[in-house]
Amino acid sequence: MILIVDDKPENILSLKSVLSLHSFPTDSASSGEAALKKVLKNNYALIILDVQMPDMDGFEVAEAISGYSKTKDVPIIFLSAVNTDKRFITRGYNSGGIDYITKPIDPEILLLKVKTFYKLYEQTRQLNEMQDSLRSEIEFRKKAQQEINDKALELKFVLESIPQIAFTTKADGTIEYRNSQWMLYADSESDFPVTHPDDVCIAEELKKMVKKGKPIELEVRVKKHDQQQYRYHLLRVLPVKEKNAIVKWVGTFTDIEDQKQTVKRKDEFISIASHELKTPLTSIKGYVQLLDRISHDNASRLYIERTLLQIRKLDSLIADLLDISKIESGKLKFNMRLFDIDSMIENTIEITSQTHTDYIVERTGKANVKVFGDEIRLEQVLFNFLSNAIKYSPQSKKIEVITKRKPSNKLFIGIKDFGIGISQKDQQNIFDKYYRTEVSTHNFQGLGIGLYICAEILRRHNFEFGVESEPGKGSLFYFLIPLEIN
Ligand code: ADP
Repeated sequence: MILIVDDKPENILSLKSVLSLHSFPTDSASSGEAALKKVLKNNYALIILDVQMPDMDGFEVAEAISGYSKTKDVPIIFLSAVNTDKRFITRGYNSGGIDYITKPIDPEILLLKVKTFYKLYEQTRQLNEMQDSLRSEIEFRKKAQQEINDKALELKFVLESIPQIAFTTKADGTIEYRNSQWMLYADSESDFPVTHPDDVCIAEELKKMVKKGKPIELEVRVKKHDQQQYRYHLLRVLPVKEKNAIVKWVGTFTDIEDQKQTVKRKDEFISIASHELKTPLTSIKGYVQLLDRISHDNASRLYIERTLLQIRKLDSLIADLLDISKIESGKLKFNMRLFDIDSMIENTIEITSQTHTDYIVERTGKANVKVFGDEIRLEQVLFNFLSNAIKYSPQSKKIEVITKRKPSNKLFIGIKDFGIGISQKDQQNIFDKYYRTEVSTHNFQGLGIGLYICAEILRRHNFEFGVESEPGKGSLFYFLIPLEIN
């Protein structure tokens, strides 16, 4: 908008009409004071200022305008019928005005000047806007950078205060920061701590991790410079993401040697204890069987039978514990050969049904094929799945044993129950050693090793296996035997 300042209304009117004709919006003030009030309140692109006015003349108004920071850059065109000599023109420029037009006004000249100033004003305004946005962009970046620095500092502080070896890497895996523990294990700031010769190469694992964009968690043995012994550490490296992109990785090595030793001692104890228990139990079993043979009165035979049942339970518990030791020491052996899976299934169902007469074990489908594997170990798996199906279905007495050939030429063997079921979360850990669900811990007896042994047997056969289950509806434990070999 253009502000026209003149004490004569007719002058204002004629200027307004010339400018409006060319679509310039205008405003007016009839005195210097009124003009000053308006410039402070509104924004003008140009001021056309009459020099000769009572009270405050145009030069005084211009001086005041150029004194305010808000208005100091607004161009001014002075208008005057007099004061046309050089001295007055110079004064006009000194007081902050930019151009000078003498009366009588030539509308064409006025318009030319107004257009030029208007354009200039627009350009200046755009430049200022650009400058402002650049300034705020710089401010924003500075603040963001500061925040990143603060966060990095905070992270370093945390990583420095923990007892673990800790480090961060850039998104590409190059080490960026390491805490003071690092140098107790590593040869240099850019080398990873020295690992046991039999363990994986950490740098290689990190390369793979960066490529896949997935966190890693692995056990490695590292040792301090001043120590002879390697100690097991859990290396965990997690990504730090910003807007879904990985910006860095944070890693820690936690000393787990003591836990490892405890587990080892426990495994050793289980191994020794089960071996020690096995020998007297075998003798007890022998003597009771002998007693069974020579005893003829019904009451004694009933008690002997009950004793034998308990002996068998104890026997299978000890056998499981011995299997755990064999797995741990890598001594679980397999006798692989072709065998008739149908008769193995029938046999297992029969034995299970004999001891659980209140359950109905239904068989659907037949394999009609010989399979390759360790018959006794696979029978152990089937027996375990069946015993669990019975144990964890106290309310529902029906169990299904499903045998079917899959189009992938694999034989599917599944044990389906309609019992308590297993939650999704528990299903992920169900095959882990000593894992028992909370429900079963409180309501059912067990050690949590049966499924672990089954999983190990099936893994060693390279058979796929798994569980499908819904809490309250039941479970299906299954494995798949490849039939290519037949
Ligand atoms: P155990 O039965 O001695 O606890 P297992 O290794 O055989 O040990 O089973 C581990 C856990 O898996 C059990 O404690 C139980 O929580 C769960 N589980 C196994 N089979 C079933 C099943 N058929 N239905 C529900 N839960 C089961």
